[in-house]
Amino acid sequence: MTNTNIYFIANWKMFGDLTSINTINNVIKLSKNKKFKKAKIVYCPPYTLLNEFFKKIKNTNISIGAQDCHEVQEFGAFTGGISASQLKQVGVNYVILGHSERRAAGDTNKKINKKIISALKKKLNIILCVGENLKERKKGISFNVVKKQLDNCLKQVKNLKPVLIAYEPIWSIGTGKILNISDLNLIIKQIRIYLNKKSKNKNIKILYGGSVNPKNILDLKKVSNINGFLIGNSSQKQNIFVDIIKKSII
Ligand code: PEP
Repeated sequence: MTNTNIYFIANWKMFGDLTSINTINNVIKLSKNKKFKKAKIVYCPPYTLLNEFFKKIKNTNISIGAQDCHEVQEFGAFTGGISASQLKQVGVNYVILGHSERRAAGDTNKKINKKIISALKKKLNIILCVGENLKERKKGISFNVVKKQLDNCLKQVKNLKPVLIAYEPIWSIGTGKILNISDLNLIIKQIRIYLNKKSKNKNIKILYGGSVNPKNILDLKKVSNINGFLIGNSSQKQNIFVDIIKKSII
């Protein structure tokens, strides 16, 4: 783990309703405690709750993120789409792009690249998800897969400062399985070395995502040089999320 800010990105996926807004009070309380000021918490609820979350976290240092955006940056006849510009208007500062669940629904690296470029123009921070499937891991080609995703998703992106990379092995998302720590150390290191060569910014934020929970966080926090976690299921219950943050920092 690095010594700087530690990111905790809460991906709520398609969960939560209007009552959920009352279930983050303990996280807000923790975020105000000086002991945890290193924790950079970003809530990514479904679109329908963005505005409510934004009102709720006003006057805290928690940020709001969306789980996707359209590649057209402003407005257009794209039924069902939400643009980066529209997200900005409801207080969103981050957007998750390239999540494997969006890739499974049709997002290609090329499309993700267009979304990234649009979102960056609107000054959103990007959480770019990359990662291999189980077959690719077994074949020993995980880093090659990730490298290709990075190359194609980040085409023409010169400044990586607003881009956080979330390494998420697909087979680990929602399964309770995680990579062993030495393999995780290796791929995080490979990603960092690769991006350092590609970019002038040597301070690239790299996160891990996939079945993070209060038990495995004690091992995951030992991974050198990671800047935090993208957390799905375990972020939806405030006491579990708080437990993970506390264990990561203390
Ligand atoms: C995710 O949604 O990106 C994720 C990592 O989910 P989970 O923590 O539930 O595996």
